[in-house]
Amino acid sequence: MTDYKNLIDGEMVDNGEWLDVLNPANEQVVGRVPACGKDELDRAVAAARWAFKSWKKTSQEERQQVVQGIAAAIKDNADELYRLLTSEQGKPHQQAQQEIYGAAGLAAAQSTLTLDDVINQDDDTRLSRTRRVPVGVVGGIVPWNFPVMMAIQKIVPALVAGCTIVLKPSPFTPLTTLRIAELIKDVVPAGTVNIITGEDHLGPMITEHPDIDKITFTGSTATGKKIMEGASGDLKRITLELGGNDASIVLPDADVDKVAEQLFWSSFSNAGQVCIAAKRVYIHKDIYDDLSKAIAEYAKTVVVGDGSQQGTGVGPIQNKKQYERVLELIQDAKDNGYKFLTGGDKDPSGTGYYVPITILDNPPEDARIVAEEQFGPVMPLLKFDTIDEVIERANNSEYGLAGAVWTKDTDKGVEIAEQLETGTVWINEFMQLSPFTPFGGHKQSGFGAEYGVDGLKEFTYPQVITVKRDAAV
Ligand code: NAD
Repeated sequence: MTDYKNLIDGEMVDNGEWLDVLNPANEQVVGRVPACGKDELDRAVAAARWAFKSWKKTSQEERQQVVQGIAAAIKDNADELYRLLTSEQGKPHQQAQQEIYGAAGLAAAQSTLTLDDVINQDDDTRLSRTRRVPVGVVGGIVPWNFPVMMAIQKIVPALVAGCTIVLKPSPFTPLTTLRIAELIKDVVPAGTVNIITGEDHLGPMITEHPDIDKITFTGSTATGKKIMEGASGDLKRITLELGGNDASIVLPDADVDKVAEQLFWSSFSNAGQVCIAAKRVYIHKDIYDDLSKAIAEYAKTVVVGDGSQQGTGVGPIQNKKQYERVLELIQDAKDNGYKFLTGGDKDPSGTGYYVPITILDNPPEDARIVAEEQFGPVMPLLKFDTIDEVIERANNSEYGLAGAVWTKDTDKGVEIAEQLETGTVWINEFMQLSPFTPFGGHKQSGFGAEYGVDGLKEFTYPQVITVKRDAAV
């Protein structure tokens, strides 16, 4: 077992108090991290505030170089990092590798983003220009499902925009992020990136800290609402990436054999613990029987187990609280007599937070397992008849993160997509995010956006400077 330290003001430090981090595959402690409170947060914020004075004046090239250094540090140590990630998060090695290389790729790509000045007016009377200025010190708060990707997608745009950051990983999955902190300690100027760990109560301290100017948060909608409230005291800027209950809509012209496997992984990747996983799959009645059978058949070929073992496709749930919540939803479905195509028939036992692949056969629309975000290896298949009906059903949610349409008729797919109340809709693919394309939720799935120029702008204020050209001075 290793102790992982925090990064504050360019130094790896601890405070002598520790939090254990468990491996969800076997419930054994895999590492310890500092249990920080107000004192450590104040030190980290002071360091970030001090570093901001000079970092905000750096050129685009200097920032790009530093961020590319972060990308290289992650890529060069990918083997060590993905194994560590599996040991704390539970996802299979291959998916952990994708996250690590994805984070390095995101950093490299986003290092090239720029925010150019905009000329609003340029004539005989006036020159008016909008420039973007960094907001200041950012507080980043991240969840446990993609701990590395989420940390990088907060640190990188903050730095590129000229901000400094204090980042708090989830207490369930801080290890890989702290190992990255160690790797980038001498890559980033002291104080620009600070990473501190602690229990959930450290979150509100960040949200309410008077010397933090912006919060960028990924996590649940319930916590997002608390953050919005906490940040309101001094009108901090906020970006919130929250929960989802994404619908996939499969039209009758879709090729059953070709889409079955893709649909499966759109729900079960990372054991379903993905904000943009397909959490409700609507299948047209003409192909419902064939497609549900094909998905259930494919599911039988996928191994649920320890993510460090070769051949595992679906790992454990990341933590006990979420494990119990998913089991509760499954129990509710059993109690209500809903039909299961797979799973639901045996209770998991032994160590590790394993849930069998669970596919439900056309439960009612108001079933908890349909209406709530499951965030686990659960896939309700739902039968629909008309397009108008399925659009209404898909939109009948407080969430509005993403969705997908599967059809050979892509024009029809786009027509449906335009009627869905979500931030992203994929036609014939799933979970595709680009470093250059904005990603954000409608309704209660978020506030603002990450990624691309839109995401970068959220770390800045617009400042307008006008010069009166025909002034009598
Ligand atoms: P969570 O909201 O419980 O915790 C997220 C982070 O917030 C953790 O670091 C936690 O310590 C911290 N936190 C907890 N209480 C806080 C408070 N009162 N104030 C400030 N911070 C606080 O979420 P989770 O369970 O870690 O993650 C799962 C949720 O995240 C799911 O709902 C999922 O859909 C969502 N999610 C969304 C996206 C997205 O991009 N939209 C991506 C991944 C996960």
